[in-house]
Amino acid sequence: MQYRRLGGSGLKLSALSLGTWLTAGARLGRGEMRELVALAWDHGVNFFDSAENYAHGEAERVLGDVVADLRLPRDGFCVSSKVCFGSAAQPRPTQAGLSRKHVRDACHDALRRLRVDYLDLFFCHRPDPDTPVAETVRAMDDLVRQGKVLYWGTSEWPATLIREAFDVARAHHLAPPTMEQPQYNLLHRERVELEYASLYAECGLGTTVWSPLAFGLLSGKYDAGIPEGSRMARPDAPGRLDSPDGQARLARARRFSAVAAELGVAPAPLAIAWCLGNPHVSSVILGASRPDQLVENLGALELAGRFDEPVWRRLEAVVG
Ligand code: NDP
Repeated sequence: MQYRRLGGSGLKLSALSLGTWLTAGARLGRGEMRELVALAWDHGVNFFDSAENYAHGEAERVLGDVVADLRLPRDGFCVSSKVCFGSAAQPRPTQAGLSRKHVRDACHDALRRLRVDYLDLFFCHRPDPDTPVAETVRAMDDLVRQGKVLYWGTSEWPATLIREAFDVARAHHLAPPTMEQPQYNLLHRERVELEYASLYAECGLGTTVWSPLAFGLLSGKYDAGIPEGSRMARPDAPGRLDSPDGQARLARARRFSAVAAELGVAPAPLAIAWCLGNPHVSSVILGASRPDQLVENLGALELAGRFDEPVWRRLEAVVG
């Protein structure tokens, strides 16, 4: 495994981490998730990502139980949660968003479900137009001072709002956001590469990026149709392929698979290796619903060092 600093902070996260969206507590129970977490840990993964709304809190419960059952040392792993959407299917007005009240309650709920006494990373899962940024920054700063959160950050916030949070924190000597959690893959690059460009050096922003396979599309599994039991086969699948946009994304993914075949490697680890090539990426969060997928994806580390610049530029060109 390779370890990378989380932006300007001293925290070292594994370059590949493991997420729990649509898996832990949803499709996967404790036994299956235990296998994935143990496998990841044995390969040097030290960061596990979760959120209050994943499977309505069940993802955190499953992850917490599994980590406790495996007796992973608390000083050796990092765990995250995210606040904004609420954990109930239809949260009450006080149980969602980024108000001081919900930020505090969501943190306490995550600590209980994850069975830890502090969160290493705590994200504001989306911006909340109904809460002033300063209120959220103060609420996060309180949790940091209380030792319940080590690093707080944002997920899918526009650069202007991230900068506003920094400015508020600096002006009032509060803990600033340390990291963002944006989508980043060969089909979705703009925010990480352009919109946030100035934030890395000026604010020391780190990134823990999500959906490196564009919801599984870059694994090549959809090139010839939608396999039964796969994510896209779900009626509520995110990023569905039956729209014109979905078809265009699929065409790009097919071109990517063709180059992977030419190179003699599987598409999934190649797509993840491409993400690792960006030095502003602190950790790439892997999604896997089976151990064989996770093993294949962990191979990205080796591929990242195998190919040189012209290969990566060619892959970018081929997906457009
Ligand atoms: P990916 O784009 O990597 O998709 C992962 C899915 O693709 C797997 O669950 C599996 O789906 C399929 N897959 C993975 N590897 C392979 C393989 N080698 N061969 C074939 N199929 C494969 O990532 P996710 O979308 O799952 O995101 C990763 C993590 O990022 C999440 O778990 C979550 O922690 C975080 N996240 C954060 C968000 C945010 O807003 N902050 C939003 C979304 C995710 P299947 O087998 O079911 O087809």
